[in-house]
Amino acid sequence: STPCLSSGATAVIETFKQVIKEHDLEAEVAITSTGCMGPCSRGPLVTVQVNGQQDVIYEQVTPELAREIALAHAAAEPKTVEKNILPGDLAFFTKQKKVVLSNSGLIDPDRLESYVARGGYSALAHALREMTPMEVCETIIKSGLRGRGGAGYPSGLKWDLVRKAPGDKKYVIANGDEGDPGAYMDRTLMESDPHRVLEGMAIAGYAVGADQGFIYVRGEYPIAAKRLENAIRIAERRGLLGGRVLDSSFNFRVDIRIGAGAFVCGEETALMASIMGRRGQPWPRPPYPAQKGLWGFPTLINNVETFGNIAPIIENGAEWYASIGTEKSKGTKIFALAGTVETTGLIEVPMGISLREIVFDIGGGIPGGREFKAAQTGGPSGGCIPAEHLDTPVDYESLSRLGSIMGSGGLVVMDDTSCMPDVAKFFMEFCMDESCGKCVPCRVGTVQLHQILEHITNGSATQEDLDKLEELCIMMKETSLCGLGQSAPNPLLSTLKYFRQEYEAHIANRT
Ligand code: SF4
Repeated sequence: STPCLSSGATAVIETFKQVIKEHDLEAEVAITSTGCMGPCSRGPLVTVQVNGQQDVIYEQVTPELAREIALAHAAAEPKTVEKNILPGDLAFFTKQKKVVLSNSGLIDPDRLESYVARGGYSALAHALREMTPMEVCETIIKSGLRGRGGAGYPSGLKWDLVRKAPGDKKYVIANGDEGDPGAYMDRTLMESDPHRVLEGMAIAGYAVGADQGFIYVRGEYPIAAKRLENAIRIAERRGLLGGRVLDSSFNFRVDIRIGAGAFVCGEETALMASIMGRRGQPWPRPPYPAQKGLWGFPTLINNVETFGNIAPIIENGAEWYASIGTEKSKGTKIFALAGTVETTGLIEVPMGISLREIVFDIGGGIPGGREFKAAQTGGPSGGCIPAEHLDTPVDYESLSRLGSIMGSGGLVVMDDTSCMPDVAKFFMEFCMDESCGKCVPCRVGTVQLHQILEHITNGSATQEDLDKLEELCIMMKETSLCGLGQSAPNPLLSTLKYFRQEYEAHIANRT
């Protein structure tokens, strides 16, 4: 996956191949490139398996270490060399629950056989052969799955709305335009297990009566786009997206659309405008995409991670899925754990796990003997959660009660050196740059808010500015056209709620 590739995985793979060739071990040892194993800050990662069993994971592998590892494990008396992690000993692995990422780091994303060997496409076959579209929708409703893109709308209800919408032409869209700073859950899923996304989309297509799907991939994700393209080509060639192999009259075609870097295109109406070749700007709802979406036809739009949940739900049943998580937030959630934490990386946890377990057990705590100050969830639409709420269960309701949101899964940890007005300014600057400019409250409001934050952090603000700041936040939330403008004040409001003294100190000291 991208983090390991950027820290030198290609040279490591080449070294393994070379050593195996030099020592004539090609018949005994197979080298497989996989997707993400999780602890990104420790990459490149290598897993050595003996007879198909996971044996040991090596971290920060260099070409030199790769040579040593290959020779040590292939020796007459195999042994483990240093730089190894024992997965069973590390809370990073043991505290997670992998449902969506169950294949990630284990299979070769470019090989269909790898996916099929782990049960891939059997959920689609089961849905096509044994279930009616209505039964599929009911299963997703009963599972309690909620949209993983941020809003948390019940996915099954959305599917059922599209299924019931009149018309012969319908579309399915997978939203892979992840743009939150620090978030890379969707990228990793698309890179590590592209067939999982396709299978979820095809099941959705069958359930709602669509024969065409689009995956909208962020332009900055070339590896994800390439692996998806490859997966689509192979699945179509083998007749796996419905059709002859799965013994069904259902046929589903999937195309990729590459975004051009606008954050607002993650908003569903802007994304659809972009797919249709128009300027990527939101339009007012209603009508909702389920009624009138792409080219005016009913359209189901879900986040990539949401589609990643579908095959396991069909395979294992709605009750199994609903047994994971909390009363109102079912299943698991993927987070991109980033910031000042010992081990950063991609994690999947059951809903309801506490923030403390994520930061201190899975992430290994704060490095350098510093104190935990806050965790930012939900990116530029989310908020900062302070230390006194570390034991809060991570689910949709609890995070929103604290003034934050689940969002798509960005989770940035900050230590006691962070200045919270500065953090708020960073996110406001992001929203100001990314505002599409269509409506005045957001176009002008983000600029005004950023300017006041600039004055606060450079020591030239007054108490009156602080009052204006709050007034402007409320106005923006209530009057902006789309989610970007409505939620842009969230990081600011949450830091004001929990760290107001820092704003006041800046103003009082004028520093
Ligand atoms: Fe564009 Fe912002 Fe208005 Fe959304 S809220 S339509 S991003 S200007």
